[in-house]
Amino acid sequence: MPRRRAPRLIVPALIGLLGAGSAAAVGDDGADGKFERRDSFHFTLHQDVDIDERGGIYGSRAFEQSVLDALEGAYDRLGALLGLRPESKLVVWVWDPDLFDDRFAGLFRFPAAGFYGGAIHVRGADRVTPRLVAVLHHELVHAALDAAAPRVVLPAWLNEGLAEWFEARAGGKRTLSPGERAAIERVARAGGIASLEALAGPSFAGLAPEPAAIAYLQSYAFIDHLARRFGEAELARFGTTVLRARSVDRGARKIYRRDLASLEADFRAEIGAP
Ligand SMILES: [Zn+2]
Repeated sequence: MPRRRAPRLIVPALIGLLGAGSAAAVGDDGADGKFERRDSFHFTLHQDVDIDERGGIYGSRAFEQSVLDALEGAYDRLGALLGLRPESKLVVWVWDPDLFDDRFAGLFRFPAAGFYGGAIHVRGADRVTPRLVAVLHHELVHAALDAAAPRVVLPAWLNEGLAEWFEARAGGKRTLSPGERAAIERVARAGGIASLEALAGPSFAGLAPEPAAIAYLQSYAFIDHLARRFGEAELARFGTTVLRARSVDRGARKIYRRDLASLEADFRAEIGAP
């Protein structure tokens, strides 16, 4: 396997777990009550990472501004790559890592670096690391899809596949890394590639670490397959059409002139899955 990445999650199911509106309430009584709020054009940020100094290049104000800069950059890339430009402000909570683990670890069977549940929640760091930026890009896709079609529950392979693809693509990756490619082909040879139907639930939250890693990789690989074969502009049109039509199959027929089953069959053939 390539470097195992902590999968990230979102999910409507989580809103149920937390209770309606409690995503905000969770933050409001943040353990030490020290959430700082700062706004940019498209985002409202709350963060409680334990940073000693308020000023200076390592202070909390500089940190908050860096997070917002990263988010605004991600917003622009999201519009360019996936055609998603949420109009309402998106709310982002950056949690102290220990507090995040205390509060949320029980919601997942694998270590999560962030999730979306009505707002973006990420496990923070004391600096804006490439890893933190990647997680923000990933969760932004979930937030934007939800903002575009709040009542549509997308299959997890599409929701997570788009998030993984955008995170990678925005980070400069054109396709799967050689290690990821080798891993998916190894899983395929072993008969471990699930059907899209089996990955169509609302989230991967209930999966154990190993199956979760495979599910995320497979979802990314399928979206990457579509982007390489038909082009990135068509991928963006596919995503927005699925949201509008409220049907993955109708989106596939309209944009790719194929049904989902035949797209899936071609993907399986490419990676050598039986
Ligand atoms: Zn996700």
